[in-house]
Amino acid sequence: MRTIGLIGGMSWESTVTYYTAINQAVRDRTGDGLASAKILMHSVNFAEIVALQKADRWDLAAEALGDAARGLARAGADCVLICTNTMHLVADAVERAAGVPLIHIVDATGAALKARGAKRPLLLATRYTMEQPFYAERLEAKSGLAALVPGAADRDRIHAVIFDELCQGVVTETARAAFREIIARHVPEGADSVILGCTEIGLLIGPEDSPLPVFDSTPIHAAAAVDFALADERVAA
Ligand code: GLU
Repeated sequence: MRTIGLIGGMSWESTVTYYTAINQAVRDRTGDGLASAKILMHSVNFAEIVALQKADRWDLAAEALGDAARGLARAGADCVLICTNTMHLVADAVERAAGVPLIHIVDATGAALKARGAKRPLLLATRYTMEQPFYAERLEAKSGLAALVPGAADRDRIHAVIFDELCQGVVTETARAAFREIIARHVPEGADSVILGCTEIGLLIGPEDSPLPVFDSTPIHAAAAVDFALADERVAA
């Protein structure tokens, strides 16, 4: 089994989901109840990363995550994952620093949508992910998807819920109702699916909150890591 390197802590609330999903998938796919994933993790202080995001210092964030990736590879990781959508803004620099494959959240998520025939996903994410081109352009280039991005007021609301609530372990019915309402309003606009393009949104809503198919980037990304880790193994049918 190959060793998975996780750059986590962004926020740790969703890194917990990664750890659980990866280990559960290894248990299920190997058919061995005692099997678990080989994982190395570098968990950052998220407050420091948020400060760099707010200061628009993506160069320094790339350095910090690049150092983490390099350390994971040196310690024996065969791949690295950045356990957040937003920080894929610096994924190329992190992969270069790592020198091992980076399993990209946009590619894994895009492939899952494409496999289900989706074409026009509503993208729910941080303002960085919804507003900067790195995410939607890669979805289009690699998976042929034309992402629908909510308007400014919705983007503000979603961003605030992510940082002021979900990343701080707060899950409220008010926020859930707001997300349900935003999704419902985009059905007539042509959305045919929904991307939970922030690793914490799955802590708030799921398929039951949406009339459209929901693609949660966190378990999809975790499953891609397990595909990589078990690629050379014989696994249970
Ligand atoms: N975890 C979130 C994401 O997937 C937001 C945290 C961050 O800004 O990295 O984008």
